[in-house]
Amino acid sequence: MSAFRNPEVVIVGGGIGGSALALSLAHVEIATTILEKSTLHVDRVRGEWISPWGVAETERLGIYDLLRQAGGHHVTKHVGYGDDVDAATAISEAQDLTMFANAGFKPPLCIGHPHSCDLLNAAAVQNGVELLRDVNEVQVIPGASPKVLFHHDGREHHFTPRLVIGADGRNSIVRRQAGIQLHRDPTHHLMAGMLVDEIEGWPDSVQTLGTEGDINFLVFPQSRKRARLYVCYSIDQKRRFAGADNQARLLDAFRLLCVPDSRYIANGVPAGPCNSYGNEDTWTDTPLAPGVVLIGDAAGHNDPIIGQGLSITYRDARMVRDLMLENREWTPAIFAPYVEERRERMRRLRLVATMFSVLYVEFGTRARERRIKYREERMKNPALDPAVAAMLGPEILPSEAYNEEVIERLRAA
Ligand SMILES: Cc1cc2nc3c(=O)[nH]c(=O)nc-3n(C[C@H](O)[C@H](O)[C@H](O)COP(=O)(O)OP(=O)(O)OC[C@H]3O[C@@H](n4cnc5c(N)ncnc54)[C@H](O)[C@@H]3O)c2cc1C
Repeated sequence: MSAFRNPEVVIVGGGIGGSALALSLAHVEIATTILEKSTLHVDRVRGEWISPWGVAETERLGIYDLLRQAGGHHVTKHVGYGDDVDAATAISEAQDLTMFANAGFKPPLCIGHPHSCDLLNAAAVQNGVELLRDVNEVQVIPGASPKVLFHHDGREHHFTPRLVIGADGRNSIVRRQAGIQLHRDPTHHLMAGMLVDEIEGWPDSVQTLGTEGDINFLVFPQSRKRARLYVCYSIDQKRRFAGADNQARLLDAFRLLCVPDSRYIANGVPAGPCNSYGNEDTWTDTPLAPGVVLIGDAAGHNDPIIGQGLSITYRDARMVRDLMLENREWTPAIFAPYVEERRERMRRLRLVATMFSVLYVEFGTRARERRIKYREERMKNPALDPAVAAMLGPEILPSEAYNEEVIERLRAA
């Protein structure tokens, strides 16, 4: 037996999803322990832009005020610069992101990833959650009475909780140990990201994304002259942002002809590592096993190109919490609504991400012509815009709109 109290719930992974759920459970006095492998949350280049529908999930989880008070920054304007439009038109067609208030949503919220993890960890601990860091060799044995073994402080420990939550990210060991299969579509492009400080002259209310040459660029300001930058590029250019001077090369990529003030961004100062990832979707059919539930990236991740991972994770945490509170039996059957909703949610978001990639992360003359044509159509019907779908969430269109034919039509255009 462990030197620690035996909790009702063990959460493996104290990142965004694990700590948000732990905090929620602590509010209703469910004894919860988080097992986190890191000693510190550091910048690994993860999500820092929370979509409006995800912001609504933070409100439902009761953590919105916490994020805001700790510097969470609303971006209120979107300018769609790119090679499909001249800059003056892009500026005149800028979207006011406060307009989502009509649909009950706040504008996107930007906040650093390690900072969010630290905040949520601290709030969870203050509310009675036990957080064990520097934990390794976690072994989960699923079953009606699951068991969790782990090493901490040079000793082996074990718990016999009522439920184990796998919130241990993309390479989840809980998923593997529970025998839950992960599906994966092929990597369609690569994405490099970096946090940048001292961006003089770029308004912190304005986000932008678009395509020029052989990159798709994204800028998400976090206030106080700081922004998270991403560049998406072809998988044929694997080493484009590799090597010792990769930070300088990422900044240089922001010397863009289509963005009038892009030099302000390119002249910024790196505030974290420049890391690259493959962009693809992964998903599970059933993120469950007896005594085990997966949330967040552990249950499969959406292509980061549309910045949905945090929103997905917060909704997972909220849904799992609600189901746990509605029925205290915590059998796999009570999580069926979560399984069904998540399966359909991820299917829709996969389509939106593919649509976005076909439109904005394909390069050359034909791809540009497609963007120009599509821009005209979506000005007539903004709901067609995958960026809008990514902001208002996977329920914005009727189910039949999320259909493979949309992609085929787009490719053929
Ligand atoms: C390049 C990139 C850009 C992105 N941009 C966006 C964006 O703009 N907006 C957005 O919404 N999403 C974005 N995302 C996705 C978003 O970052 C993730 O979906 C989100 O962080 C998932 O949260 P999580 O809690 O499931 O996992 P994580 O945040 O990965 O947390 C998992 C935690 O588990 C711990 N852990 C892992 N293994 C173990 C183990 N064996 N034992 C114990 N602990 C363990 C880790 O240390 C970590 O603390 C992006 C992702 C990438 C890669």
